Amino acid sequence: MPPDLAHIALASFDYSPRTKLIFGAGAVARIGELAKELPATKVLLVTDPGIVSAGHAAQVTRLLETAGLKVACFDAVEENPGTHCVEKCVAVARRAGINAIVGLGGGSSMDTAKGCNFILTNGGHMKDYWGIGKAKKPMLPLIAIPTTGGTGSECQSFALITDERTHQKMACGDPKAAARIALLDPALTLSQPPRVTACSGIDAIAHAVETAVTRARNPISDLFSREAFRLTFAGLPRVLKSPGDLEARGWMLLGAAWGGTAIENSMLGATHSAANPLTAHFGIAHGHAVGLMLPHVVRFNAQEPAAAGSYAELARAARLAPRSEAAETAAEHLAHRLEQLMDLAKLTRSLGTLGVQPKDVPRLAGEAASQWTAQFNPRTVAAVDFEQMYSEALNQ
Ligand SMILES: [Zn+2]
Repeated sequence: MPPDLAHIALASFDYSPRTKLIFGAGAVARIGELAKELPATKVLLVTDPGIVSAGHAAQVTRLLETAGLKVACFDAVEENPGTHCVEKCVAVARRAGINAIVGLGGGSSMDTAKGCNFILTNGGHMKDYWGIGKAKKPMLPLIAIPTTGGTGSECQSFALITDERTHQKMACGDPKAAARIALLDPALTLSQPPRVTACSGIDAIAHAVETAVTRARNPISDLFSREAFRLTFAGLPRVLKSPGDLEARGWMLLGAAWGGTAIENSMLGATHSAANPLTAHFGIAHGHAVGLMLPHVVRFNAQEPAAAGSYAELARAARLAPRSEAAETAAEHLAHRLEQLMDLAKLTRSLGTLGVQPKDVPRLAGEAASQWTAQFNPRTVAAVDFEQMYSEALNQ
């Protein structure tokens, strides 16, 4: 058996698609018809001020109202939303008496929409849903309309909500929280500011790379990881160079959705564990923090043959390494190319220039090691390993 197929032989999995996917430039025009099919009559639109400025919130509201639906809007979603943001959203939803939710925006809008859905339908507080499958009552149908090619949250059943007291990111997952419909319209992603294109695009690539090696990966997640990598790896340089390139925007949006599907089936690993404390304590954008740590994690994991084999498959498929190249060398080519993409995206690879000091490393490493995703990393990763990786990233 080829070495890269070894992990598949006895991998067991459950695969149940929960989200109807609709893809196409201009597909947002179908939102009214889709909402009525749910069936919805009163909709809560959850979005952020940037999406309002871009005109997308008004467009979606108009489309829904033209189809005969009533629309209430919560447009104050914050980046890395916390429990307070979710509570404000719930208050708007309660007043309006809605029977469906539309999440429009990046990952933060989707997370807030899902978080609101948990509390509106099942009561209590966000921390009550930290973990998997804690919601006992049915939840409202959600339509997710991503405007970034990034998180893939539209294909996941998790809401990531920050506890404002502890700065801890709580992953609250439940099959009922997954979007009923994901409406993928690449034309909506043209309005992303350059920095959002860069951070969300790097995050999407990181999802493909990280899900390709986790302990929980299986034949289904492998399919989605590989295709997510193929699309985002080709798409990111193009959208960075030509923001109006609709075809490449489509690759990024679809690649991000496949990455989200891969996460749903295989979880994430040490890169996200290392990134979360950087976002919590230094305000580094999620995609930036993830992209900064990813090459270090690839090099760390590649010391294990199975992970090196999976990285090598990605590298070979992207023509970064010939078939004849040893897996470890091919994995190094991948790590190097990921660094080049960070440079192309104009995102610094130095933690030092982002305000992190050597004295901060032990605390960051301790928190990274205790993150939920660390347990899915293919190579056992302890605080001392994170210290090493953070130290490498300090002075790039
Ligand atoms: Zn991510």
